[in-house]
Amino acid sequence: MRNLVRGVLALLFAVLPTACANLNFYTDDELEPLSVQAYDEASKEHAAITSGAQYQMVQRVAQKIAAAAEEPNFKWQARLLKADDVVNAFCLPNGRIAVYTGLLKVADDEAQLAVVMGHEVAHATRRHGGKRMTQSSITQGAMSAIGAGLGMTQMTPETKDTVMGVLGMGANVGVLLPFSREHESEADVEGLRYAIRAGYDPEAAPKLWDKMAKLGGSSGPAWMSTHPASADRAAKLREMIPVLKEQEKNWKPKPAAPAPAPAQQPTKKVDPNATKK
Ligand SMILES: [Zn+2]
Repeated sequence: MRNLVRGVLALLFAVLPTACANLNFYTDDELEPLSVQAYDEASKEHAAITSGAQYQMVQRVAQKIAAAAEEPNFKWQARLLKADDVVNAFCLPNGRIAVYTGLLKVADDEAQLAVVMGHEVAHATRRHGGKRMTQSSITQGAMSAIGAGLGMTQMTPETKDTVMGVLGMGANVGVLLPFSREHESEADVEGLRYAIRAGYDPEAAPKLWDKMAKLGGSSGPAWMSTHPASADRAAKLREMIPVLKEQEKNWKPKPAAPAPAPAQQPTKKVDPNATKK
């Protein structure tokens, strides 16, 4: 029944696309299996780096941005994936962050990395993935398959790529599915808010966008193809800096803010009856 309702509404979206951009049929729990599987897919393609200065920086920024995002139920994780030619990063539903080593050549200091990570995390906290899943009949079909216990690897390559694209990994999987302008603006502002809360210099945001614009064009970095750096993007961020600084001047991290786990280790069950060697 729920699928039928979703189907009918999906038809409506074709007629009223802008009015429905913020509807979300999916709970965080429903998106969880997709988030886990899409994260694994990304890590299959590129090895995760688990030590060194860049890794430490990614973990440090991820922890601060996670605390700033105030989503205690997210399963925060951050991976640095080895791909020097991929200028990209993403955050899947429920807080699974990936940064490609290529991004660190462009976002070449910690504050700029925080701006990118804040922006990507904001797509997750504003549930943009679920909202886009809601708008696409292809991904709604995929959700039904996941609900029936099928894995992402059992989907057709096209469906799998579309799902991963909708969740925000577009440029990595060869499907270009930029977020809407509305979602982009929202992620810019919320992301900047998180960077400010985390104590980073907000001036890094317009600086980064100016730099991206110079690299620009469709032949530019992957992140650019889904995040067009129009001239007014940096200008809008510059305008927002004093506003957000004022709004956030009294913000304090919640004591129970979770730290992202660097890597998920399978939990070993301890047998209390086992004899020690
Ligand atoms: Zn974005």
